[in-house]
Amino acid sequence: MNHFQYKDGELYAEDVALSAIAAAVGTPFYCYSTATLERHYRVFADAMQKDALVAFSVKANGNLAVLKTLASLGAGADVVSGGELKRALAAGIPGEKIVFSGVGKTKAEMAAALKAGIYQFNVESEVELLALDEVAGAVGVTAPVAFRVNPDVDAKTHAKISTGGAETKFGIPWSHVHAAYATAAKLKHIAIVGVDVHIGSQITDLAPFETAFTRVVELVGELRAKGHAISRIDLGGGLGVPYRNDNLPPPDPAAYGALASRITKDTGARLIMEPGRLIAANAGLLVACVIYVKQGEKKQFLIVDAAMNDLIRPALYDAWHEIVAVAEPKPDTAWTRYDIVGPVCETSDIFAADRPLPVLKSDDRIAILSAGAYGATMSSAYNARPLAAEVLVKGGEWAVIRPRMDDDALFGNDRIPAWLG
Ligand SMILES: *Cc1c(COP(=O)(O)O)cnc(C)c1O
Repeated sequence: MNHFQYKDGELYAEDVALSAIAAAVGTPFYCYSTATLERHYRVFADAMQKDALVAFSVKANGNLAVLKTLASLGAGADVVSGGELKRALAAGIPGEKIVFSGVGKTKAEMAAALKAGIYQFNVESEVELLALDEVAGAVGVTAPVAFRVNPDVDAKTHAKISTGGAETKFGIPWSHVHAAYATAAKLKHIAIVGVDVHIGSQITDLAPFETAFTRVVELVGELRAKGHAISRIDLGGGLGVPYRNDNLPPPDPAAYGALASRITKDTGARLIMEPGRLIAANAGLLVACVIYVKQGEKKQFLIVDAAMNDLIRPALYDAWHEIVAVAEPKPDTAWTRYDIVGPVCETSDIFAADRPLPVLKSDDRIAILSAGAYGATMSSAYNARPLAAEVLVKGGEWAVIRPRMDDDALFGNDRIPAWLG
């Protein structure tokens, strides 16, 4: 359920016509719906035990306004870099609601996180653990640690976003887990607090979660039997969202939350979840304008002013996004099929192939749906295309939450060496 609907013959975000935003800020732009973000967060949080920490995955959508919207509902943050840590803190999320994940945390990032008093490091290797112990000693604090374990579960999702298999770089290999906890228990500046798992993203079946979560709970029992104080279980993120209407929809967030709660309940541990996509994906869309309709040898190309630099998911993961016309098709509107492409000089710069759409012409607008997660955050200025504007709607109000990148940001930081004069 989202708040992007046709009203009075055109597509709205809540009570704001996308055409009105386009007229004011130009295209392409991302548009997010506050009501949808809030709804997704609440449905999910309400399915969890009261004291659970819902740490929104900042890499899905790190705009400060989005983070602040979620923080005001009680959300924490899952960060994977020093930059994301700064974003979360800047949005007013306190350190005690932030967890830090990722295989390659640098010592400088660890120090910044320790100084911010973060809730937990999800440590992914013994070498990282030793580095963290050293940094914590230097800062003069104890680092709260959960190991991210690799349960060797096939998440049955796209290979590039599957992270719980034994062949991936993620997590402590299952056979090394007990040794890792034993090492941690001996370190002076490390406090073992929990176990963490994250098996992948856009997972559309509860079964891999159930397998992974059950393994983790068994592990908690074993670790406690060895004297480790495991008071938290972090189950990561990864629940998929519906990207296309005619597919079997993924389980709803409430069912997923209930599953996590049920499996972990008897441990008495505090639950941490790190949802990203399921909160933000369907709370955002990308609006673009048709530049040309080009007739190819065999195909018709809709060349729009958004491109793979703005939304890379189709090029990177073969992702499917629903694409609609901003002007609502009328019953007598003629339809055709287009390859919807951007202006970037790469054959992979294609949003959709052979997609039925109403017949469009230059200056008409389209909306690429479900673009609120891993859209703006993965964008680049490739082809010297300025990063798109981002807009947040709330009821009848809207605001630019990141203006389109200007020339100064685009190339003003380039420096000419002295020898070029
Ligand atoms: C990416 C990521 C998430 C969020 O995944 P979603 O599929 O967006 O829910 C959570 N935790 C970790 C460690 C991640 O890397």
